[in-house]
Amino acid sequence: MAAMIFESNEAAFRAASELMVGGVNSPVRSFASVGGTPYVVERGEGAWVIDVEGRRYLDYVQSYGAVIHGHADARITRAIADQAARGTTFGAPTVGEIRLASAIVDRVAGVERVRLTSSGTEATMTAIRLARGVTGRSRIVKFDGCYHGHSDALLAAAGSGVASLSLPGSAGIPDGAVADTIVVPYQEVPTLDERVAAVIVEPIAANMGLVAPEPGFLEGLRAETQRVGALLIFDEVITGFRVARGGASELLGVQPDLWCFGKVIGGGLPIGAVAGPGTIMDHLAPAGSIYQAGTLSGNPVATAAGAVALELLDAGSYPQLEGRARALATGLASVIAEAGLPVQVPQVASLLGLFFSDEPVRTYADARRAVGSGWYAPFFHAMLRRGIALAPGPYEILFPGLAHSADDVDRTIDIASAAARDAFVA
Ligand code: PMP
Repeated sequence: MAAMIFESNEAAFRAASELMVGGVNSPVRSFASVGGTPYVVERGEGAWVIDVEGRRYLDYVQSYGAVIHGHADARITRAIADQAARGTTFGAPTVGEIRLASAIVDRVAGVERVRLTSSGTEATMTAIRLARGVTGRSRIVKFDGCYHGHSDALLAAAGSGVASLSLPGSAGIPDGAVADTIVVPYQEVPTLDERVAAVIVEPIAANMGLVAPEPGFLEGLRAETQRVGALLIFDEVITGFRVARGGASELLGVQPDLWCFGKVIGGGLPIGAVAGPGTIMDHLAPAGSIYQAGTLSGNPVATAAGAVALELLDAGSYPQLEGRARALATGLASVIAEAGLPVQVPQVASLLGLFFSDEPVRTYADARRAVGSGWYAPFFHAMLRRGIALAPGPYEILFPGLAHSADDVDRTIDIASAAARDAFVA
């Protein structure tokens, strides 16, 4: 088929909407919660994306954290092209998956074994099955506002797009599928009993905006799960290899029993991983009796991109990421407040959130109140008009990456100052 040329985002998105539900392949990309027509991306370049009209946006979406070195990083695209030329998928063990698994094991204390999947959803779904199989128990505990992908059992009270679209959960999930899912507020350590197989948590919550765990929360979960023999699962699909070389468990000093990874470990290609000690992981088939599989799991192109992405994260990367995020957080908080809007810009390592609220946000209830102020959509559009792309949903976070320069951050803050004044007037 010939290359498709569209004259405008409107025309491209009209075509998209006829062919794909709501014009998108993942609800978080739609503008349903902010209004208007999405820019339709033609290509990306470092910190920038370029739409079909040739407009350039300084991009803080960065594929919701799947990209940490910026778009089309030459070192990663070369690895992708080299591997593609040698074959894209085989159905046999490959050298590439050994390289990526070894990079993960090297970086995360407590991880001995890895099972690669094709998405974060599969990783969390597998971790839950593994926890249930290993413990022989059914119940799982998740936290209000945490998002762990779209498998049935985990879609209860989820953040991200479920929250942006104001859905309580999802239609199409039978009561039975969530009967063993218990949802509790973030920051509270629930009292567990011997029916609980696992507690799954985002160690730094990044799907209800950014919410840092309060001191004692993760330590409390560690102690309480140990007390009743339940497994603690850290969903590090966002935080893994982004907040520190060893992810959130290293940064925060709490070790779970199982980890879920995704995003960064695929270098921008589809991937996920469940990881942990051999004593637990070896219950998965073929070593054990808990089944999990995937035709494209450990895909050679994804593992090649992911291995290079991890290898490129050197000693200087994390201080650089954190420095950019801190400068951005301080600058945004100050210019938005000067414009007269209520604002909180929480920041943990390289992660950054944006709430239009006078009060700090520590739970999903707080996040919902902040979103209820209604400032996100006008601010989002005022930024977009000036060439800064934030995620089109108020529960998402910003992903400053290694391609964002100090100048990019300054430019973002200057533009935010004008955008906040616009939003205030609008
Ligand atoms: N867990 C977390 C913490 C996530 O942020 C996401 C996706 N944003 C997922 C799981 C699901 O990953 P995927 O979209 O690759 O299925």
